[in-house]
Amino acid sequence: MHTEVIKAYGTTAATTPLDQLSINRREPTPHDVVIDILFCGVCHSDLHTARNEWHGTIYPCVPGHEIVGKVVRVGDHVKKFKVGDQVGVGCLVDSCQECQYCKEDLEQFCEKGATQTYNSSDKHLGGQTYGGYSQKVVVNEGFVVHIPENLDLAASSPLLCAGITTYSPLRHWKVGPGKKVGVVGIGGLGHMGIKIAKAMGAHVVAFTTSESKFEEAKRLGADEVVLSKDAAQMRAFRGKLHFILDCVSAEHDVNAYLSLLRVDGSLALVGAPEFPLPVAAFSLIGGRKSFAGSAIGGLAETQEMLDFCGEHNITADIEMINMQQINEAYDRLLKNDVRYRFVIDMASLKH
Ligand code: NAP
Ligand code: ZN
Repeated sequence: MHTEVIKAYGTTAATTPLDQLSINRREPTPHDVVIDILFCGVCHSDLHTARNEWHGTIYPCVPGHEIVGKVVRVGDHVKKFKVGDQVGVGCLVDSCQECQYCKEDLEQFCEKGATQTYNSSDKHLGGQTYGGYSQKVVVNEGFVVHIPENLDLAASSPLLCAGITTYSPLRHWKVGPGKKVGVVGIGGLGHMGIKIAKAMGAHVVAFTTSESKFEEAKRLGADEVVLSKDAAQMRAFRGKLHFILDCVSAEHDVNAYLSLLRVDGSLALVGAPEFPLPVAAFSLIGGRKSFAGSAIGGLAETQEMLDFCGEHNITADIEMINMQQINEAYDRLLKNDVRYRFVIDMASLKH
């Protein structure tokens, strides 16, 4: 198959810094869209994967699944997009399209295993898929979404992962007016969780370990903020919350949060720490509580989330970086030193 060689940024081992490398992009098939990548958000999953914290990374690894850009070419059978459209690609670039879950618009749970934007088997070129820390990407139109024209493109890129990963569980657990919702861990995902839950009409309580985020969480839309290290502040919310969205990237005590749920309340984990999180039986059985999880969202729901964000004028709070600053950005991400998402300006990866 004919391919185009483009510039990307990636790593060749878990302990090696990211650096420039060359990758191939396929010649578009009749159903493909070629996207010139303008911005790419930096998700904590990029860091977990680059450093092999989930133990499945194939190298070289080119992360990036919060991709936005402009369509520069379309295959002959493409119907949804034309050259010049402002589009996005999130965590998925393909799935079987035949199983029960694909048919129910839950491509993220495809029985045959969806193709992730990076570090998945590449059905076209062999080897593994390469993500958005690159100049271009070629994607089946079914896995490309429209970005509402009223939204700032760079600040929209985090919606493709952080946005959908928080929107989907908030919808699934029916968050809205009359519901008290906790959002734990105010990073890239958590800050989107606050904005989206607020726009859905819920009463939002933010839980942070960072004193410096206390006031900012209110600006983001939280009705109340709790410093989770303060036992007295935590106690005040015992049995008060209908739902908790846990966005923490590292080990933490989930039992402390389960105690804040009302009877029949649910805590959904979206954070994916490297190590297991112990759950005490009595954290759940007393109040018939549920400890659950959620992963990104399907393509239809991703478009629904983008339209919702367009209507409510919701984007991420971002700090723009050049591609060459990615290693420093990873170190700062680990130190909780980002307000609230790094976004790479792909113009820095010169043509
Ligand atoms: P992030 O920007 O680094 O945010 C994580 C937040 O967790 C931090 O801002 C911090 O919030 C809190 N935190 C960090 N270390 C902590 C510790 N040791 N103890 C307690 N709290 C701590 O990361 P992100 O990009 O939002 O991603 C969050 C997690 O979700 C990652 O594990 C990522 O892989 C995962 N993820 C999952 C999905 C999915 O589909 N389920 C999708 C995307 C990402 P405070 O300062 O407020 O305490
Ligand atoms: Zn992500």
